[in-house]
Amino acid sequence: MIFKSPYPDLDIPETNVLQYVFPPGEQPSDEAIWIDASNPQKSLSPRQALPWIHRIGNLLDIMHVGVGEAVMILSPNHIFVPVAYLGIVGAGRVFSGANPIYTPTEIEYQIRNTGTRLILAHPSLLDKAIDAGRQAGLGPSSIVQFSDIALEPLRGIQDWRFMTEGLDHRQYDPMGAESKTILATVNYSSGTTGLPKGVAVSHYNIVANADQTIFMRKQGYKSPPQGTERWLGFLPLYHAYGQLYMCVMAPKMQIPVYIMHSFHYETFLWSIEKYRITHLQTAPPILVMLEKRPETAKYDLSSLKGILCGAAPLSRELQNVISNRFKVNITQGWGMTEVTCGAIHVPSGALDDTGSVGQLDPNTECKILDDNGLEVAPGEPGEMFIRGPQVCLGYWRNVEATRESIDSSKWLKTGDIAVVKDGWFWIVDRKKELIKVNGLQVAPAELEAVLLKNDHVADAGVVGITLAGKELPRAYIALQEGSKGGVSSEAIQEWMKSRVAKYKWLDGGIRFVDEVPKLASGKIQRKTLRVWAEQDAEEM
Ligand code: AMP
Repeated sequence: MIFKSPYPDLDIPETNVLQYVFPPGEQPSDEAIWIDASNPQKSLSPRQALPWIHRIGNLLDIMHVGVGEAVMILSPNHIFVPVAYLGIVGAGRVFSGANPIYTPTEIEYQIRNTGTRLILAHPSLLDKAIDAGRQAGLGPSSIVQFSDIALEPLRGIQDWRFMTEGLDHRQYDPMGAESKTILATVNYSSGTTGLPKGVAVSHYNIVANADQTIFMRKQGYKSPPQGTERWLGFLPLYHAYGQLYMCVMAPKMQIPVYIMHSFHYETFLWSIEKYRITHLQTAPPILVMLEKRPETAKYDLSSLKGILCGAAPLSRELQNVISNRFKVNITQGWGMTEVTCGAIHVPSGALDDTGSVGQLDPNTECKILDDNGLEVAPGEPGEMFIRGPQVCLGYWRNVEATRESIDSSKWLKTGDIAVVKDGWFWIVDRKKELIKVNGLQVAPAELEAVLLKNDHVADAGVVGITLAGKELPRAYIALQEGSKGGVSSEAIQEWMKSRVAKYKWLDGGIRFVDEVPKLASGKIQRKTLRVWAEQDAEEM
């Protein structure tokens, strides 16, 4: 059976994301929308932001970035990142955010993979941008300094403000049906298998997902009077979750968001107290900190009214502990980069204590299949396949991976195992290879490819292990004959550290094995690795 959303279909506008957020005929508001959490004197209202948004579009023209080409942002969060997002997508170019803690080689992969034409780099990351650009064949003339203040050229690289002086107007062509095919963002996800791939998301996908999510937020929930809701923006803006809430939904709903440059726990608590934050968008590790860290008790968090939790599994117990302790409604949502951001939400007004991730968003359908592609009996677990206007167009320039993930009837294979009862969903397992560390994706295939570059390693298989409630990458490594007994796991750990970002380090440990288990096809037998990891976790 095909599960359908219990809610009536929404009429999704066919338009450019920028025009959806700031409709051309409407007077832009003077109320601050993006506020610097470290210095609230620094803020942007829609009226102040729009000329800057136009200047980004003008910058792309000056730099000869073609319509449909990718622009990379390499920056910590700040109040001008949403400006860059709306400026880039509004002008028909493609936004691609990179994690600032990536190594130059990881950034190089993304530059090559997207065919990035221009990098907007924060001054603190210029060296990294230059190194990564050089490795990818993109010279310093394709890098522009991008921060929230005007700066002199650094290392010969110009600042975007000086380059666009006096250019603060722009004409936009209306976008109709093409909004379904024109790309807006390319975020990275490994999907159900293999290396991270660019997820091609259209304007229509984003507009649909914003409308769907806003709808689910309003269900059964009496919104606080306009002007009394405040969000804290610590989710990274290189990820779909942060982008939808901070760059699209906050300005669309006119909700001020206090943007943190990066996540620091005590600053997070301090900001909730100081700015009387009412709603948080979080991932489970934040709720674990709220429960376990002693600093929590030092701050007044009584302004909090609602916490959304997504991006990774949250236990029902933790959900209820936090909800009782802070007298706050915690609702879960399920999402995936390939569905723009989300597809299943607990309506904000529902008081859920069952650990459910919610109901299907409007315009969204789901079917639950077993390993043979047959529908499971009602109430039985199976893999979720999702269809709806938020399902991405596919993987950027990767027809084969697209075909493996989205079938000709537009069903997206999620790799997540769910149970459905009376239209409510519970995620009970993950079938795909993906490991989630602090809500961020780690692709085993990527770490295996890096490990195989080590001269001592003959073969390697990586899998997630859960230790003290945290998912971490763990490697099973077969050493070269000559290296057996001669190389330590610490040496391999150290070697990895200079090659991948910190959250991808093998913090779940390394075990040397005689052989990495393989299927007849030569593929790694991931089921066996999972069993090994479960056994090892019990002994650790
Ligand atoms: P990403 O593409 O980084 O958003 O990661 C998507 C994946 O995160 C999903 O396919 C799930 O495996 C996991 N995920 C997201 N939300 C939830 C949730 N509420 N509960 C369990 N897993 C989740």
